[in-house]
Amino acid sequence: MPELVRAGERWLRGIPVSAGVARGKLVVVGRQHDLEMPRYPVPAEALPAETTRLEQALTQTREQLLAIQHRVRNAMGSGDAEIFDAQLLLLDDPVLLEEVIKFIRSEGINAEHAFAEVSNRYLSALSEIDDPYLRERAVDMRDVTRRVLHNLVGHEDNTLLAQLHEPCIVVAHDLTPSQTALLNRALVLGFATDQGSQTSHTAILARSLRLPAVTGLVDASLRLRTGEYALLDGFNGVLIASPTDATLFEYGQLAKKQLALEERLSEVRDQPAVTLDAARVTLSANLESLDEIPDVRSFGAEGVGLFRTEYLFLNRETPPDEEEQFQAYHRVAAALHPQPVIIRTLDLGGDKVLQRRDEPAESNPFLGWRAIRICLQELDLFRAQLRAILRASVVGNVKLMYPMISGLDELNQANEVVEQCKIELRAEGKPFDAQIEVGAMIEIPAAAMEAETLASRVKFFSIGTNDLVQYTLAVDRLNPKIAHLYDPTHPAVLHLIHRTIQAAHARGIWAGVCGEMAGDPVLAALLLGLGADELSAAPGRVPAVKFLIRRLKISEARNLAAFALQCESSAEILQQARELATAVASDLFEKT
Ligand code: PEP
Ligand code: MG
Repeated sequence: MPELVRAGERWLRGIPVSAGVARGKLVVVGRQHDLEMPRYPVPAEALPAETTRLEQALTQTREQLLAIQHRVRNAMGSGDAEIFDAQLLLLDDPVLLEEVIKFIRSEGINAEHAFAEVSNRYLSALSEIDDPYLRERAVDMRDVTRRVLHNLVGHEDNTLLAQLHEPCIVVAHDLTPSQTALLNRALVLGFATDQGSQTSHTAILARSLRLPAVTGLVDASLRLRTGEYALLDGFNGVLIASPTDATLFEYGQLAKKQLALEERLSEVRDQPAVTLDAARVTLSANLESLDEIPDVRSFGAEGVGLFRTEYLFLNRETPPDEEEQFQAYHRVAAALHPQPVIIRTLDLGGDKVLQRRDEPAESNPFLGWRAIRICLQELDLFRAQLRAILRASVVGNVKLMYPMISGLDELNQANEVVEQCKIELRAEGKPFDAQIEVGAMIEIPAAAMEAETLASRVKFFSIGTNDLVQYTLAVDRLNPKIAHLYDPTHPAVLHLIHRTIQAAHARGIWAGVCGEMAGDPVLAALLLGLGADELSAAPGRVPAVKFLIRRLKISEARNLAAFALQCESSAEILQQARELATAVASDLFEKT
């Protein structure tokens, strides 16, 4: 697209994470200054309810602080616990409360905005006084305000996002996967964030929702204004504010080209994923929500290679029980029967966290309490899910898969819980598929190194390259500052993938890839050359990968992999992969 920047328009460049072009008015959620809250009018008759909401949030905050204080007192003694007294006193300050209520009533506005405004006034007054004691009180005030606001709005800046009333492009400092899952698809045309990267779950979700998205825009949320007209280019990672007519015209041409390509790709939809020299590949879809079930077939995937069940648990106060989960798994299994559906057990943690408000944030969430680690500690949660999956297995071709396995102990423990659940279900007379296949994700380098041992305890592997890359290279998959170091063709990563697949085959099981590499036509050939039996990608990415596979010879892919395994430079590997992909499926890579 035009490199020429025309008078009046502003180009902001970031990371392209979800293809497509959107144009429309911007709604800027803004850098989430945590003490700023959107303001909206409240009708006179609803004002008493606002005051009640405020009072409830204060009570809730008091209870949380008392609970924390209790825990601290037990763990560290009463001296340390006293620091919460100051915060509790602030909560009980009648002057503050009176002022906020007066503000709500006189302005006819929402409680969170009024509370934030009044607290901010107090805070700026405190910060202007040069006194160490008062500075400390400002810290307390900020802390307690944040907590009250959190309790008032449920989850931070969702209020504004929930109030969109016309089609728009959302610009935010960051969006969590939970917030992204809540976006109103009828109104949100695309989104752009300061933070984020290619393999964050927010980016993955954008691709599933087929929403154009650009991340890593650094400070776009500060530089753009709500109401500005803009064009969002998810192919190239650009947001153009106030685009000129000439730019809009050029993008119109691009949209036409894209449409023509999509039509060509749809021709292979019902064809098998088979190479020119007859190697058959299983091409599956990654599913984030039940809404996507129809997409699996309509984009030509053969079942589900990864069902991320976490989204059933996000944006709600309590987790779904066994019955509710059973209904969900039953629905997807029955809808896609006889195609396989691989249901992954909970992978909460990392960037997908439950709203447990009294739990402190982890400093290294991706290295922390995540996935199978949570499940093996919270056995009731794990067992409810396993029982639901097992029960759903009678209506379809269901397979079960554990995320984040790091070694044999964990795998054995998880298998043991599955066996217990089977025994219980049998005793209760509840049917399930006794032959259900259980697999493990290989996404931690330790698991790849131990792949041969692990392979003897499961029926398949699915390689999670999103995490495998981040853990192998010690590159946070969310951090745009080091996105250039997140390198899927790094020789170390490729050797681990190769090792895993070899180990699987040596033990007579299959190995697929369900990380984002599998949906990238440039890297798909490399993965097939390394021996992957299955590729699983966001539904919208399946057609391009199938198009490529059907124009490729497996011998070419193997030559590429052989080259990669002896090459020292990831850039050279990527270059070779690009050359092969472009040579066999140039249509996919026409300059957009
Ligand atoms: C992966 O890590 O590659 C994967 C598929 O799992 P997730 O992206 O959900 O962590
Ligand atoms: Mg993963």
